[in-house]
Amino acid sequence: MKTIIANWKMNVGVRESVALARGTLLTLRGRKHIPELVICPPFVALSEVRKIVARSAAALGAQNVFWAESGSYTGEVSARMLEELGVTHVIIGHSERRQFLSETDEMVNKKTYHALASGLTPIVCVGEGRAERRAGTAQEVVGEQLKRALSGVRLRASDHLLIAYEPVWAIGTGEPASVSEMLPMHAFIRSLVQELLGPHGASQTRVLYGGSVNGENAYAFLREEEVDGVLVGSASVKINQFKDIVHAACEVLEAQTL
Ligand code: PEP
Repeated sequence: MKTIIANWKMNVGVRESVALARGTLLTLRGRKHIPELVICPPFVALSEVRKIVARSAAALGAQNVFWAESGSYTGEVSARMLEELGVTHVIIGHSERRQFLSETDEMVNKKTYHALASGLTPIVCVGEGRAERRAGTAQEVVGEQLKRALSGVRLRASDHLLIAYEPVWAIGTGEPASVSEMLPMHAFIRSLVQELLGPHGASQTRVLYGGSVNGENAYAFLREEEVDGVLVGSASVKINQFKDIVHAACEVLEAQTL
């Protein structure tokens, strides 16, 4: 199976989200083997997008969650509130939140824990910065983020976990990691997950790539067995680009059945 996450970020309002959700679902039409598709609109559009996604094969995701169930946390949203809106997945620790909102590994850990306890599938984002890649410390940085994010986490039989390897220098820059740069990191993440969560946990965990994925380069990532899917930002709000990404996944899945 391949998973495609559409992270619309803060790029679309409610009306645009509704139109984009319709267009996004059309990309699946007529295809026999389709990827798991998770659409993550802004919070304010979740209930409208839910109405469209509800009748489809796609799932609904949120772009963030808070770690408490309720209380005096102005502006925050809990997992239970998201579930009420039909949300099944949640992005946690995106590099933009780490950069602009000072989200720490400890916060990522609490959110991951809370999401899992509430039955949501966390999409935990990790990735090194450009200086760290240049200094040759990328694995060290990602390893540390992952260890902290998953500290104390145990997956129950019904839980799923998605980890998105998103090198910060590749996000929104039009400069994706090359396949030869990201594959060793995927293998590293997988072996670390095995160590941290055990064989059962590892079998319930999928590793995705994110960072300037577009219609032209998606196939090169998706055809790799190590790559369970892609997290797409900018290209997910450009329907022609996104259609090519979805179709690249369909082709990979179709080829696997031959
Ligand atoms: C992202 O939002 O996580 C992302 C990968 O963005 P982009 O596809 O624009 O690089």
